[in-house]
Amino acid sequence: MDGAVRMRSITPPSSEAVGRHLALGSVVAAAAVLLVIAAVLWQSRSDAWDRANLAGANLAQALSEQIGRFLQGYANGLELLSLQFEDPAFSATSSEARHRLLTTLGSSSEFVSAVLALDAQGNVILSSRPVPAGANLADHDFFTVHAAHAGLGTHISQPFPALLGDEAWGIALSRRLNDREGQFAGVVVVALRLDFARALMRRLKLEPDDAVIFLNDRGILLMRDPSIDGNGDTGRDMSGTSNAQAFIAAQAGSLSAPSQMDGVVRLFSFTHVDRMPLVIAVAASVNGLLAPWRQRAAVIGAVALAISLALVALAFLLRRELRRRSRAEGELALLAVTDGLTGLANRRRFDQVLAREWERAGRTGAPLSLLMIDVDHFKRLNDRYGHATGDIMLQFIAGVIRQCALRPGDLCARYGGEEFAVVLPDTDADGATFMAERIRSWLGRSVPPQTIVPRPPVPTVCIGIATRRADHHREVADLLAAADAAVYAAKDAGRNCVVLAS
Ligand code: GH3
Ligand code: MG
Ligand code: MG
Repeated sequence: MDGAVRMRSITPPSSEAVGRHLALGSVVAAAAVLLVIAAVLWQSRSDAWDRANLAGANLAQALSEQIGRFLQGYANGLELLSLQFEDPAFSATSSEARHRLLTTLGSSSEFVSAVLALDAQGNVILSSRPVPAGANLADHDFFTVHAAHAGLGTHISQPFPALLGDEAWGIALSRRLNDREGQFAGVVVVALRLDFARALMRRLKLEPDDAVIFLNDRGILLMRDPSIDGNGDTGRDMSGTSNAQAFIAAQAGSLSAPSQMDGVVRLFSFTHVDRMPLVIAVAASVNGLLAPWRQRAAVIGAVALAISLALVALAFLLRRELRRRSRAEGELALLAVTDGLTGLANRRRFDQVLAREWERAGRTGAPLSLLMIDVDHFKRLNDRYGHATGDIMLQFIAGVIRQCALRPGDLCARYGGEEFAVVLPDTDADGATFMAERIRSWLGRSVPPQTIVPRPPVPTVCIGIATRRADHHREVADLLAAADAAVYAAKDAGRNCVVLAS
């Protein structure tokens, strides 16, 4: 049995196992850290999203309330005006007095384009500002709806590009006038410039890709800021777009979608103006609202990844070092118990194994045999062929002994000088004698290595055999002494023979 092979089993691979666990642990730890950071980053993304959603909803709500209040003021004024116009006493007052009423309402804000009274044919009969003679507005919806339906209350018209020489886009609030018989007698109208919405929107501080959208319930754009056509995009028909349809369908809400005007993906927060056919949508660019989070996530993610990779790399480096150290330790341990010349176990190892096997034999009651092998006339060989040749011959003899000891438990050792020993556990005297004879005869038949010039004959050996069952009264030294004595007996018997100790 090869002494080197047996050595491996006595070197615990603890550093290698530690290294393996360390590497595995570092991978698991790095993965866990990355997972936690990914979860935290995802949470902070959804927080940023929720904040933007809330801010958008609040802004849309505030804007819709302002627009609602602004329009409601004119709706109230218009209602009073219609009551006045339906009052016979008012009709009797002077034209100047009635005109003054219109101009008072008309001058209440820069955004009032005109306050008008139309007769049943749509002719302008009174106006807050000068209008062309014979002006007729019968083709406008603020007239036609009231002509067709009674009891509409205040109607908000579709946007119109110009009215009676005013170039600004506007919408009109209108109310029906009835005569005493309840027949249609005309309408009173407040025409407003849509600039009022732009003025409100301009007060907001928006991010570059954000927008505020004001549309009516037919999907017609009243004002968008910033606009694409440079003029509020007023009048653009968005009724066919899914975004506008979603705004119109619900009282309030939010949705994230590409803008159907410029393709930018936005978070739209929308709400209807209270009791009016109008919708306000605040659109925040998704890229813009997530930009700060993205920057933060990129930095945190990169740092976490770098630290994790460094941790894993360090652990693997450490593992490699531990493995190297473990191998070096193993090699050192092996060297410490190996004979340098022959590669067999050295004397120290022999002593350890013999003591261990002696104890084991004592426990199990199994026989234990020991062969002591002494090379015959080795001094002569040395003297004739030189020490180098003697060394090669010792290596050769060691190789033969090793090949003869086949059981895994056998231990071949160099006992010292030109003496070898073989420990044979679980082997009785017959088995040991058979082994000894095999070694002796193999050597007798073998041819020395060709590397030796000139080639000496392979020397013979004397082998002393001692077999003992361990008991309380004997020491392992007795076994050694008996084998040694048997070697001397073999020498005395003329050498090249095997002697079994009695
Ligand atoms: P015997 O048959 O009585 O055993 O005679 P011997 O010459 O073998 O016995 P002796 O004990 O007189 O000599 C042993 C020799 O073995 C002496 C020494 O030079 C030689 N020797 C011991 N160790 C080594 C070694 O490592 N290399 C070489 N080349 N020779 C060694
Ligand atoms: Mg000797
Ligand atoms: Mg000798």
